[in-house]
Amino acid sequence: MHLTHSIAQLRAAIREASAGKTSLGLVPTMGALHDGHASLVNQARSENDLVVVSIFVNPLQFENLGDCDDFRNYPRQLSEDVALLEEAGADIVFAPTEQEMYPHGTPLLWVRSGTMGERLEGASRPGHFDGVATVVAKLFHLTRPDGALAFRAYFGQKDAQQVAVIKRMVADLNFPVEIRPVPIIRASDGLAESSRNQRLAPEERTHALVLSQVLHRLRDEVASGEVIDLEGAREELRSSTGVTLDHLEIVDPASLEPVSESTLREPLRSPALVVAAIHVGPVRLIDNMELRPQS
Ligand code: AMP
Repeated sequence: MHLTHSIAQLRAAIREASAGKTSLGLVPTMGALHDGHASLVNQARSENDLVVVSIFVNPLQFENLGDCDDFRNYPRQLSEDVALLEEAGADIVFAPTEQEMYPHGTPLLWVRSGTMGERLEGASRPGHFDGVATVVAKLFHLTRPDGALAFRAYFGQKDAQQVAVIKRMVADLNFPVEIRPVPIIRASDGLAESSRNQRLAPEERTHALVLSQVLHRLRDEVASGEVIDLEGAREELRSSTGVTLDHLEIVDPASLEPVSESTLREPLRSPALVVAAIHVGPVRLIDNMELRPQS
C-alpha cells in the first residue's frame, strides 16, 4: 500500500498503478476509521482493481471554517487508520495536510450546494455542504484516472444528505464519476458507527441508543402499513434522558424535500427516508433509515 501526503505523489502513484487496470474506486474519509469506512473500502475493492482512500479533516465543512471545538476535537489517528486500510486492501492512501489542500488559505471559489444543502443538516450547520461539495470536487479532480479507467466514488448512506448533494453535484456539473452509495453499518447495539462515537462517555452512548430505536420502530410501522406517529417519535426523543433533539423528518430520498403533512396522515405508499440528528453530551449524532411501505 502506498501512503502519500502530496498531490504530486498521489497523481504519480495513480498513474503508475493504473497500467493494465480498468477502474479506480475512491473512498473519501476524514479518518478515525471504523467498520463503516471499512465497508466502503470493501465495496470499492470488490468493484474496482485500483482503490484510493483519502483521509482529510476538511476545515471548510466545519463551523467557522474549522475554528471550532468540533474540528479541534475531531479524532486524528493516522497510524491506526493506515493499519486498517492495509488490512482492508486499499492500494493508495492520500492523507494531505491543510497546506497541501488549500495552499492559498480558504479557497476563493467554492461549489455551492444551494437549497439542497440548506435544509436538515445544513439548517443546523450553515455552509457545511458547500464545504463538503468543494472538497469532494477537489478530491475528484485529484484522483480522477486517465482516459480509459472507469471512475467510481463510494459514500456511506449514513450521511444521506451528503450522498444526495454529491449525486446532484455530479449530475449538475458533469463530473465523470459514478457515485456508489453504501448501506449504514451499525454496532451490535444498533448505534450507527461514527468517528464521533469515540467522544461519547459510556453513559452517553447508552442515551444515544434511543435514536436508532426510534428509527427502527418507524421503519417497522411503515412496513406493517401503519400511519406514522411522527410527532410522537419526536416527543420520545425530546423527552429521552441526556438527549437534545435537533430534527426528525420524513423526506423524499432523492430531493430531501419533506413529505407533505397530508401524505403522512395515511399509510405511506412510496419509499421515503426518515432522517434525524440529536445532541448527546458533546456530540451531534445523525442517523437515517429507509421507510419501505408494504408492497
Ligand atoms: P467521514 O470520515 O465521517 O467523513 O465518513 C467517510 C465516509 O464513510 C462517508 O461517506 C460516510 O458516509 C461513510 N460512513 C461513515 N460512517 C458510516 C457507517 N456507519 N456506515 C456506512 N458508511 C459510513
